[in-house]
Amino acid sequence: MKIVRERVELKGIPVSPGVVIGKAFLIDSRKVRPPEKIIDPEMVDDEVARFRQALAETRAQLEDLRQHYEAKRIGEYGYLVDVHLLMLDDKMLVKATEERVREQLHGADWALWQVVQGIKASFDAMDDEYFRDRRNDVEHLGDRLLRNLAGRLPLGIADISADVVVVAHDLSPMDTAQMDVERVKGFVTDQGGRTSHTAILARSLNIPAVVGLETVVDRANGGDTVVVDGLTGRLILNPTEAELERYRERRSRYQAYRKELEAFSALPAVTRDGHKIRVAANIELLGEVKNLRRYGAEGIGLYRTEFLYMNRDHPPSEEEHVQSYRQVAEAVHPFPVTIRTLDVGGDKMIHAVPLPDESNPSLGLRSIRLCLRERELFKTQLRGILRASQGGNVRIMFPMISGLGELLEAIAILDEARAELRREGHRFDPHLPLGVMVEVPSAVVVADILAKHVDFFSIGTNDLIQYALAIDRVNENVAYLYEPLHPAVLRLIRMTVEAGHRHGIRVAVCGEMAGDELYTLALLGLGVDELSMQALSVPKIKRVINHASLEESRAVVEDILTLGTAEEVHQLVEEYMRSRYPGVLDPLGDE
Ligand code: PEP
Ligand code: MG
Repeated sequence: MKIVRERVELKGIPVSPGVVIGKAFLIDSRKVRPPEKIIDPEMVDDEVARFRQALAETRAQLEDLRQHYEAKRIGEYGYLVDVHLLMLDDKMLVKATEERVREQLHGADWALWQVVQGIKASFDAMDDEYFRDRRNDVEHLGDRLLRNLAGRLPLGIADISADVVVVAHDLSPMDTAQMDVERVKGFVTDQGGRTSHTAILARSLNIPAVVGLETVVDRANGGDTVVVDGLTGRLILNPTEAELERYRERRSRYQAYRKELEAFSALPAVTRDGHKIRVAANIELLGEVKNLRRYGAEGIGLYRTEFLYMNRDHPPSEEEHVQSYRQVAEAVHPFPVTIRTLDVGGDKMIHAVPLPDESNPSLGLRSIRLCLRERELFKTQLRGILRASQGGNVRIMFPMISGLGELLEAIAILDEARAELRREGHRFDPHLPLGVMVEVPSAVVVADILAKHVDFFSIGTNDLIQYALAIDRVNENVAYLYEPLHPAVLRLIRMTVEAGHRHGIRVAVCGEMAGDELYTLALLGLGVDELSMQALSVPKIKRVINHASLEESRAVVEDILTLGTAEEVHQLVEEYMRSRYPGVLDPLGDE
């Protein structure tokens, strides 16, 4: 059948910047459906043997995959493999399939397919996010087994042998981690959002990605020419010659822009009047650490450790904590790594720790509150962090602190962990700096009290804006009100900085605001000492800082603090940036 290569344009969510033109490599895991085959009774033993052979091959592949992750130091994915390995032993799957072959004379492929559909349906009926995820695991494992039964490589991902753009419905971390990523030039998927695994991985690999395209798998054919614009979220299949030309040009402009920026990676962030700002990176996965030097990040200002707890049924052991944190600390040495203790709940759900079903989870038992309730869970992590601190560059940070009571309680558990480790003869950094995230407005109000008990503050603007302006940060209906330049937010930042400085401690910002150049001057002028952001943003923020002066940014802040509305502040800052730094806010001249 001849493929008609039709031009299609789609718009999705841009999650990793850049422009790529390549050939589509289609991974359609949904289309594996075996024929409905009835076998002769004398074939039953052979058919069961074929199924067991596929089980053995699947097991061997999964074990290889786990080794592969360990070698690539992406151990987080190992737990997903473990879930699949456990399922391979599950009676519901294995025995039920064999019974269908023996009793109903179904071909092994068809028998397995029906069993998988049945398990998926029972998970569907449970209507619980945890089981929905397990349902996906069953589906992924069933797919792998079916492909092994049919003698095909799982998903075909290992076949990637030329430079391609991977087109998929959704990609599990397992899929992406077994790819020869050097060959992949971009990702596009039907599902996913900014924090989906595809998005995080694409950013850490530094390749363009657009997710949430909804219909790309149905519309694309393998081998189609595909244009991916990871800046706007646009995707074109089989573009016209004129479009190809336009996107080639856009790609070179983007490359030139990145190249120009990279010059700033190696420079310190110092204003023209000699004021030094520390520019650090936020990380979620160990695999991201390798990008830090390339982009010139001066350490890690926020390590979101909840990712260590994801995709698994039990929390990590103390040893696992130690291993992960040591790896990171050694990789960034002598720069510091700021390890934030478990921050789950709200929009960050995990299954390894049961969370109550609450009607208002952002205001519920999340983050430090959960850790203070689950003290052993918390202490295991604290012991892990302490034991990884021997190199002298580990800092610890508590999230969501709302007042002194909570902080003292957390410190008491940290002290207990220290005392235990001493008794057991473990070594750790006795001067390990302790900080709190300032992200609840009450913490700002009592910042002067908190400052006496910690070594640094880090302002989490993502949550601070959410709580100060009463805007759910994931609710699209009120997204228009989510304004980092709201006068209330600016005043809260100023209050935090002043309280910190009065007590001689440094104040960082580690929310998204820190990585957006529109806000850099305001943050400088407000007196912030450190900025922490996704690694890719480090050079562009260093560039603004290197062109700016502290005096200038203070003057801008003086002006904006006289204004009454978020719109007025936004307008003033934007106009100032456009006239003072032409092209910085719009590097490719799109507007
Ligand atoms: C924040 O709230 O600004 C922050 C940095 O933490 P998270 O986005 O992980 O809640
Ligand atoms: Mg937060």
